[in-house]
Amino acid sequence: MSVSTAAKDIAALPEGFVDRVEALVGSKGWSQDKDELHGYETSSWGGGAGRAAILLKPADTKEVSALLALCNEMGVPVTPQGGNTGLVGGGVPDESGRFALLSLRRLDAILDIDTIGDTITVGAGAVLERVHEAAATENRLFALNLGARGSCVIGGNLSTNAGGLNVIRYGMSRDLVLGLEVVLADGTVWDGLRAVRKDNTGYDLKQLFIGSEGTLGVITAACLKLSPMPRERHTAWLGLRSPDDALKLLRLCRERLGETINAFELLHKGCVDTAVAHRGVAQPIGSDCPWHVVLEASWTFTDGLAERLEAVVAEAFEQDLVQDGTIAQNESQRATLWDLRDAQAEVLPLLGLEHRHDITVPIGSIPEFIRVCGERMEALIPGVRAWPFGHVGDGNLHYNVIQPEGSDRAWFYGLKAEVQKVVFDVTQSLHGSISAEHGIGRFKRDELATRYPLDVALMRRIKATLDPKGTLNPGATIA
Ligand code: ZN
Repeated sequence: MSVSTAAKDIAALPEGFVDRVEALVGSKGWSQDKDELHGYETSSWGGGAGRAAILLKPADTKEVSALLALCNEMGVPVTPQGGNTGLVGGGVPDESGRFALLSLRRLDAILDIDTIGDTITVGAGAVLERVHEAAATENRLFALNLGARGSCVIGGNLSTNAGGLNVIRYGMSRDLVLGLEVVLADGTVWDGLRAVRKDNTGYDLKQLFIGSEGTLGVITAACLKLSPMPRERHTAWLGLRSPDDALKLLRLCRERLGETINAFELLHKGCVDTAVAHRGVAQPIGSDCPWHVVLEASWTFTDGLAERLEAVVAEAFEQDLVQDGTIAQNESQRATLWDLRDAQAEVLPLLGLEHRHDITVPIGSIPEFIRVCGERMEALIPGVRAWPFGHVGDGNLHYNVIQPEGSDRAWFYGLKAEVQKVVFDVTQSLHGSISAEHGIGRFKRDELATRYPLDVALMRRIKATLDPKGTLNPGATIA
């Protein structure tokens, strides 16, 4: 995708639009400064780039409502944006230069924490890490956790239904929401900000907006579930022979550690070696195992978990599922282990061009997926480095296909569609999903329509009902 810093084409907006924006929100509430816009037009995490005619920066729900009503009336397409950390181009406009980019960052208030109901209510622009910190001051955990935590915001997390590292225990974003406030395409405010755990009042409307990438409404506030703050937490790094052994280990861990498992991550050896080399740290384990698992467990008691984790690891050695392993003895060792996992998105691109995928298959099909995809990828591109890592406890793999060493970058870029076809064909044949946790956005939109035509036809009918003029994030999710 190209990035244009050309002067903003004010003519792309209907006559009088900017004056009416100024009248509604004042000069603090919008910008056409091209340097300022540039930071919003290009995703900071490699999730595409486009051009916007104007940046809208409302301060509250009332201003979001007024701006959306205006855009709807005058036919201006709007892309809502949170922390701009999306990975599929859903939070940046297309390249037409006609879009208004609606930033929710100013709606960043922590509105309420309720330690009886165990809820936290926040504005859509609240940074995930700030929500963690706010919950922690009341000795509570907000359980959504992902690499972009320092810059992603709740509105974006929910509109993309973000997943992350702890889904195995706490679920996806949509599992952590009790209520939402949403502004509809015509500016109507839907107050669904209910802090109740039981709510059987017909259709679950909030879930319609979660994961819809701003195409059905704009989330302005959310009431989220809190969990008890774990007081004891332990992380193990284990070396294994195969993904099959990883699943046997997962079953053993589930039987022995049950709901205390926070994370069960699988990494190809190539991913680990790359992170070790670039971080300049020691290998986490001594042996040269082809696969690695990061296992973490936590609970609210203060002691006894370490012994239980050690016992499970010992049992896994006895069953020959694990070839080598270590358990972090303190927070600093734990942080070093997690850094090797968290570093993946940053270090793998240093090896060359990488075609990335975010897929899920039923957990039991993970070994077959890795085997079949690996064979087909090697047949397509001899020497290619197909090195997956991911949240195997949820069936989610980030299937990374890195160019062969010494090969031409442009040549490998040209193979993108063929590589993706292999990955998605195998995913679909195993009844998986072509987007596990990143969403559809603009990047996977056509693929979704081709592979799941009835799903998309139903989505279009819902979209036509809620946004008949089609001004909310057109071109994202569905066309
Ligand atoms: Zn992930």
